[in-house]
Amino acid sequence: MTITRLTFSGAGIERLAELRQLPQALAAAYAEAETRFLPVWQSRCLVRDGLVADCRREELAMVATGHESMVFLGRRAGRALFAVRLGDEQLPAHLPSAGFLGLREIASQVSEADAALLAYARAMILWQERHRYCGVCGAPNQPAEGGFVMVCSDASCAQRCFPRIDPAVIVLVHRGDRCLLGRQASWPEGRFSTIAGFVEPGESLEEAVIREVREETNIAVAAATYMASQPWPFPSALMLGFHAAAQSSDIRLNDGELIEARWLSRADILARQVLLPPPISIAYRLIESWFDQSPGPRLASFATDWTSGGPVPR
Ligand SMILES: [Zn+2]
Repeated sequence: MTITRLTFSGAGIERLAELRQLPQALAAAYAEAETRFLPVWQSRCLVRDGLVADCRREELAMVATGHESMVFLGRRAGRALFAVRLGDEQLPAHLPSAGFLGLREIASQVSEADAALLAYARAMILWQERHRYCGVCGAPNQPAEGGFVMVCSDASCAQRCFPRIDPAVIVLVHRGDRCLLGRQASWPEGRFSTIAGFVEPGESLEEAVIREVREETNIAVAAATYMASQPWPFPSALMLGFHAAAQSSDIRLNDGELIEARWLSRADILARQVLLPPPISIAYRLIESWFDQSPGPRLASFATDWTSGGPVPR
């Protein structure tokens, strides 16, 4: 049982981290005629005709002020790529705001590799935007090393901070022929999903799984089996997916994060007792990998939109 590549991973880019500390190499990559720039505006990325809009230098002439103000993403198919933040007032007239989309929208329109590339670009720009000031002394930060370090501008402090990723566990709990799914109040009506939560300081991933399942549902799990991981850029989570066998079955919602949790069989899911999370999510893929463990048709073989209650147009 495996989970193959997940949405928002597999950008197919060589990151070339070793160049980040070589300003001359970055300047040379920036200057190449074939180099392309991925604009991020109001946390949105530009898509044109179902493809990532990798702009030429001339298209961003108003804002392209050198590689120091950009993020060096790496090279894809040999071509250097930089992410560039457009301020609210910097949107060039030939780049219509309607072309800038949120990542969820993008994921349904472009290839998985392009969705992953744009998620990477946006995550870097968003991280820089949220770390404009030093957390130690409050002085402004300056980007350095291809945009991968924010350095305090006060030389007596010189604190450096690095791109932030928030690890979160997400777990398909199973017992007998049923799985445990829960529902948050803010989700669309009828949507249920796997149990998830952020890893806390001082605990392992396995401990986080046991704690989160206990906190949210009162179900005891003893061991967790790692399945797969997914960058979940809303804004900066890394989802670490597990399966875990339950040792108890009495549900009690301990921490109020869920408004409902249920044990569901495969038949219950096929009978559409609940709506499932979107297929781009690792939550769906964890459910699918559990579902497909049993003999019989695989979940993907049912021509159904599990998220909306309707058949999938074919
Ligand atoms: Zn400082």
